[in-house]
Amino acid sequence: HAKKMGRANHQFFAPEMNAAAGARLLLEQQLRRALENDEFELHYQPKINVASGAVMAMEALVRWRSPERGLVPPNEFIAVSEEIGLIIPLGAWVLREACRQNRAWQRDGLPHLRVAVNLSAYQFRQKDLPEFVAAVLLETGLDGACLELEVTESVVMHNPAEAAQILERLHAQGIHISVDDFGTGYSSLGYLKQFRLDTLKIDRSFVRDISSNADDAAIVRSVIALAHSLRLEVIAEGVETKEQLDYLRELGCDQYQGYLRSKPLPAGEFEAMLRGAMLTEAPLLRAV
Ligand code: C2E
Ligand code: MG
Ligand code: MG
Ligand code: MG
Repeated sequence: HAKKMGRANHQFFAPEMNAAAGARLLLEQQLRRALENDEFELHYQPKINVASGAVMAMEALVRWRSPERGLVPPNEFIAVSEEIGLIIPLGAWVLREACRQNRAWQRDGLPHLRVAVNLSAYQFRQKDLPEFVAAVLLETGLDGACLELEVTESVVMHNPAEAAQILERLHAQGIHISVDDFGTGYSSLGYLKQFRLDTLKIDRSFVRDISSNADDAAIVRSVIALAHSLRLEVIAEGVETKEQLDYLRELGCDQYQGYLRSKPLPAGEFEAMLRGAMLTEAPLLRAV
């Protein structure tokens, strides 16, 4: 009887639905194996001082080099990793690897720059996050001042009182805190004064049409003024053209990130880029 029911059920679903469920299951299985098989890697994108052109820091962005799928971008696996709980061990790997790599570059004579790591809301809700980060710094030998953590507005707004404490405990280790995708999340600005923050990252969506759309320009101008009056730094994401950069310079933006200067690069290519900048344009690198 059960077998008959199973059959009936099976036929009830459209074949496309079974295919979708199967594909999802396969993705989950492959993702779980990916961590064990060391298939994740970090790419690095520089953060540039608008006024001087100096490389100030670099953001670590995770990619999945899957034997079946090729190089998979984070938008295709971070959400699933969160849903299946993989984000905790994956996030731990990302933090450890970013700190290890940064310390290795420092030991190899590259300037002491800050490395920025993106934190998932799930990681942020782990009560022992500040202790975990402290342990990774100790283990890798990286100075807390050479680590930056990027969180989104919604991450801190989930539980503001608890978030304020966690940020304080991270700040006490010298760690730099940035609000990622600023302007796309929670709209209350009151939290800006409650939290120990260092930088606002203006979301790419406001930068795209900055030189042609008066509303976007007004938003960016306001965010820069807000940040500066709260003694925060401000960085613009997704800068692709000289025109956008010139506009941001005119508005007084401190730093930028974007394809105009460099895409996120594999560690080896990023290192080569830094060494090239050291040889030809020494002032383009500034140590923290
Ligand atoms: P995000 O932190 O806001 O990172 C910026 C994204 O914009 C990156 O995409 C970067 O490659 C891309 N980008 C940089 N410059 C430009 C540009 O000039 N033009 C355009 N069109 N795009 C640009 P990516 O690497 O695909 O990462 C997407 C998102 O995935 C990140 O957004 C972040 O939210 C998340 N993510 C990446 N790595 C991690 C990680 O290690 N942990 C967690 N939890 N999330 C991560
Ligand atoms: Mg980020
Ligand atoms: Mg961002
Ligand atoms: Mg973004």
